[in-house]
Amino acid sequence: MRILVVEDEVKMADLIRKGLERDHYSVMTTHTGTDGLALALAYPFDAIVLDVMLPGLEGFELAKRLRAVGNATPILFLTARDTEDDLVRGLDEGGDDYLTKPFSFREFSARLRALTRRFPQTAPTVLRVEDLTLERATHQVSRAGQRIELTRTEYLLLEFFMRHPGQVLTRDVLIDAVWGLSESIEGNTLDTFIKLLRQKVDYGFGRKLLQTVRGFGYKLGQA
Ligand code: CA
Repeated sequence: MRILVVEDEVKMADLIRKGLERDHYSVMTTHTGTDGLALALAYPFDAIVLDVMLPGLEGFELAKRLRAVGNATPILFLTARDTEDDLVRGLDEGGDDYLTKPFSFREFSARLRALTRRFPQTAPTVLRVEDLTLERATHQVSRAGQRIELTRTEYLLLEFFMRHPGQVLTRDVLIDAVWGLSESIEGNTLDTFIKLLRQKVDYGFGRKLLQTVRGFGYKLGQA
């Protein structure tokens, strides 16, 4: 499990890192919001621990920008503020959970475990559904040996489908998985991306893998 910790209080960041390393997580720490965003976009993490008050770019804004580009890495916010407005805002911007300072490491660790269980980012390095292959390390997708170029959002959508082959996935589940829990997207955004993905993954190949299950949602493979 790889965790990104974005926290400007160096002592706090060190404590979290040491605690997580003791629990066998692989941890990357940074002290500014701008670096945090760059790292979160550059590397795959299983979760991000994100302080709210940060120099450069504050935590809520960082989360918002990540979600805006389709990055669905689960986020646990850390904050000294505990008003209801902040809580709602943090979750609205795409946070998945929220912990108010001061907190015990035990509680922190339990919340992080729950978060990574709820939103498992770790999957086999190579996902396969019939003749469709997705390599998570390189983000390469191919069907029957033919390379398929996807945008970031199309890729995230396909990766989620490939982690749940043959399962009917509802619209809400797909939207949560790709755009983040509370991110509000336009009504037909999902359909538009499904259409784009279908053109790339199915067009010109004999068998249609991405299917619409009318009234329920969509599924990939295993007709
Ligand atoms: Ca801070």
